[in-house]
Amino acid sequence: MADIKLDAVEKQFAGIPALHAISATIQDGEFVALLGPSGCGKSTLLRLLAGFEAPTSGALSIGAQEMANAATGHAVPPEARNIGFVFQSYALWPHMSVRRNVSFALEVRGLSKSEQSRQTEAALQATGLVAFADRMPADLSGGQRQRVALARCLVSDPQAVLLDEPLANLDVALRASMQEVFLDFHHRTGATMVYVTHDQAEAMAMADRIAVMHEGRIVQFDTPEALYSRPCNRFVAGFVGEGTVLPISDFTPGKGQGAARLLGTQISVQTSADRPNQLCLRPEDITITETGDLRAAVTRSTYLGGRYRLMLRTPKGAELMAESRVRYPEGSQLGLSIGSPWAFCED
Ligand code: ATP
Repeated sequence: MADIKLDAVEKQFAGIPALHAISATIQDGEFVALLGPSGCGKSTLLRLLAGFEAPTSGALSIGAQEMANAATGHAVPPEARNIGFVFQSYALWPHMSVRRNVSFALEVRGLSKSEQSRQTEAALQATGLVAFADRMPADLSGGQRQRVALARCLVSDPQAVLLDEPLANLDVALRASMQEVFLDFHHRTGATMVYVTHDQAEAMAMADRIAVMHEGRIVQFDTPEALYSRPCNRFVAGFVGEGTVLPISDFTPGKGQGAARLLGTQISVQTSADRPNQLCLRPEDITITETGDLRAAVTRSTYLGGRYRLMLRTPKGAELMAESRVRYPEGSQLGLSIGSPWAFCED
């Protein structure tokens, strides 16, 4: 079992908090993304899990083993944590061939030559590297180097794998194919994976759950679907997916939903809050219809392939984003009807 438990883990650098008392559990075998803007503390959290940093207060454990505890000073060093790392910078040994990069951990462990060879070839096969096994890292593309880093993880059979923006240096097409490689790796190993990224599309495509971080805190830890359809605040609504946050008034509760006024019209909303005062309007919450109560003008129309992204402005100046299969020229006056968007309460 390699579930990861963080118990009020805090980290300060020279008295300045980078992480504020984070408590969370990552289940055994789960693929979790740490998602957030630059400086929110993602890498610091990963480095604490790896053992490269010690918490200022709090404790963390992996499986049954306590790895760090600020109160007792207990700290298991990184090499004793049975964790694999995949970094943006690959961290391959430049003077060793791909095969040797992969087999080295097995040599160090003292496995027999035939067992080293069996496990190494299996890992090269799994990561599509058989044809590159005799090359040196300098003669590989970025995606191939990242595969070597994964093959190295595969042979060392870690209980958890930590990945810090591993695709940041790769182009868009290669990122998509590498996402498949990571998912395949996850299915094969069943390892607990913690993946740092600031790219919400990448996190949504791969993770079972995403911890959205902001200013040293986890603000929402949920499935990609829940983050998108039920964001807890303006930050999550803006960071995960596209949409607009708008104020609502005169909320009247119903069962798991209610009615409220938005831009002068009455709409129904979904919510878990007692008194929601904001909502998150996703493009798919807006239907363009002649009979719609809400009027808006098209200010910009962008072709996305098969559909158009419309930027709209209401007579009172609110900006909305909708999508349409039909092309509406800029300046068109449209009627809109609003589905049941998600509403939340903000102080
Ligand atoms: P990015 O996406 O840019 O890598 P991040 O979310 O990973 O950002 P961290 O690298 O964890 O953010 O940094 C969190 C905060 O802690 C930042 O304000 C950073 O400046 C600070 N910090 C991180 N490492 C140190 C350090 N060794 N000494 C001092 N401050 C640090």
